[in-house]
Amino acid sequence: MASAKAANRSGAYLCIEVCVADSDVAEILAAEAFEAGTAGIEEREGTDGIRLLLYAPVAAEAEVQAAIARAAPGARVSPSERIAEADWSEQWKLGLKAAEISPRLLVRPSFVEAVPKPGQAELIIDPGQAFGTGGHPSTHLSLEWIDALQPALESLNRNWRLLDVGTGTGVLSLAALRFGARIVFAFDLDPLATEAACANARANGIESGLEVFVGSLDAVADATFDLVVANLLRTELMPLIDAIAAHVRPRGHAVLAGLLRDECKLVIAAAQAAGLSHSGEREMADANGDVWTALLMTR
Ligand code: SAH
Repeated sequence: MASAKAANRSGAYLCIEVCVADSDVAEILAAEAFEAGTAGIEEREGTDGIRLLLYAPVAAEAEVQAAIARAAPGARVSPSERIAEADWSEQWKLGLKAAEISPRLLVRPSFVEAVPKPGQAELIIDPGQAFGTGGHPSTHLSLEWIDALQPALESLNRNWRLLDVGTGTGVLSLAALRFGARIVFAFDLDPLATEAACANARANGIESGLEVFVGSLDAVADATFDLVVANLLRTELMPLIDAIAAHVRPRGHAVLAGLLRDECKLVIAAAQAAGLSHSGEREMADANGDVWTALLMTR
């Protein structure tokens, strides 16, 4: 589910283009490629799969090629292209755009100009090395749910609380705080994600109400929340369903996203077995025509 990620580095760079079949492979490849020294990744969805453009220092080429062969054996790899030193750090930004989530919310990277409509809140989200700029349907749908649920959450608890499982860039947490959440716990297994989330909180002037930490659900003890959001791959989500359900307060909600339409049945059944009822869903297709779903479950 990588979108566009970059670290700040400079020097002589190569762009290596890899075409992979699906987002699971893209995610693994992105992780391995960063490990091997890749400094920035741009993802473009095409009709024949996902195209990843890896920007790596020339010196790291062999390691990056080895990472590609390991993570995505059989993937189509185009010959690497040397790019002007000054340009690479701007290249990855080209794929990112402002995302109009709803009449009330606009999400944009800091380097993309966009003017919010009257009454529209604006969130500035830079990816760093984390996922979640609002451009991917799974993030978009999760943000739509937070927006749509806000009045119900306000009436459930004027000081409503959010638990953000796998916060990535922090985008869902920051949107919730914009929409009046009082306490937000945001965590991620990946320290680069929490770093990005903290930087984005600062960029948006959000200082109070947000706890960001590196770790897993175990760290949350037995607190309950008015809303739990989890935008994860199905394979990451399934083992967490019982624990997620346990953190939803009575009449509270969970938004489970990152799912393709045909993955939902299993997830709904697991959430129902954990005591939640299925109370809605939102869908959105990506550029490949794959339909992503964000489920609303309620205790
Ligand atoms: N919430 C953001 C990012 C979603 S990407 C958005 O909606 O766009 C999913 C994130 O979950 C990744 O950053 C990944 O590192 C993290 N993640 C995956 N499994 C996790 C787990 N078990 N606990 C915490 N974080 C997890």
